[in-house]
Amino acid sequence: MTATDDLDLRREIIATCLRMNGLGINQGSSGNVSVRAGDGLLITPSSLPYDETEPEDIVRLRFDGTWDGRRRPSSEWRFHRDILAARPDVGVVLHTHSTHATVLACHGRGIPAFHYMVAVAGGSSIRCAPYATFGTQDLSDNAIRALEGRRACLLSNHGLIVLGDGLKQALALAVEVETLARQYVLALTLGQPAILSEPEMERVLDQFRRMKYGQSPN
Ligand code: ZN
Repeated sequence: MTATDDLDLRREIIATCLRMNGLGINQGSSGNVSVRAGDGLLITPSSLPYDETEPEDIVRLRFDGTWDGRRRPSSEWRFHRDILAARPDVGVVLHTHSTHATVLACHGRGIPAFHYMVAVAGGSSIRCAPYATFGTQDLSDNAIRALEGRRACLLSNHGLIVLGDGLKQALALAVEVETLARQYVLALTLGQPAILSEPEMERVLDQFRRMKYGQSPN
């Protein structure tokens, strides 16, 4: 597959990055995005402002870590590759340093079931992965564990990862998780908010599954 074969996808990746900044869930070029494509993935390049990124700057990375293109892949390529390899249910990995999610992550705190919408990430909590240096295999391993059964996790003293079937879905989930993080940080300023029970979150997750498959809640 040549660079031009997937031109639309490359354009869509850049548009998603620009949208991420426009929505205020990322600053500068700290975030990065990858999409499963062919026998590997397409990923944003390292240290290039999104508004200067051209489709040809998007890097084609293979699962063995080799890549084609005129740029180096994002310094976080390891967790993008490892997540897409470990999770056949996922087509997109999106990473940002959105402010409120990062605030919680700097305290090593995930997001418990203080609000039923936490279920949007697939479980009764959104976990926070233990700290590891950016770009390392340790960070990748920690992220994969924190994402078990989930489509989002926080990264201690770092930021947020969300997973999606497609780019639009992943971006929407990133906005949702950042919103939940903001609400949780605000709720904590008044004391400890009530946390929904596991059985209640099971009911919520069941409702979400029914909605996804177009059934009425009852
Ligand atoms: Zn980062």
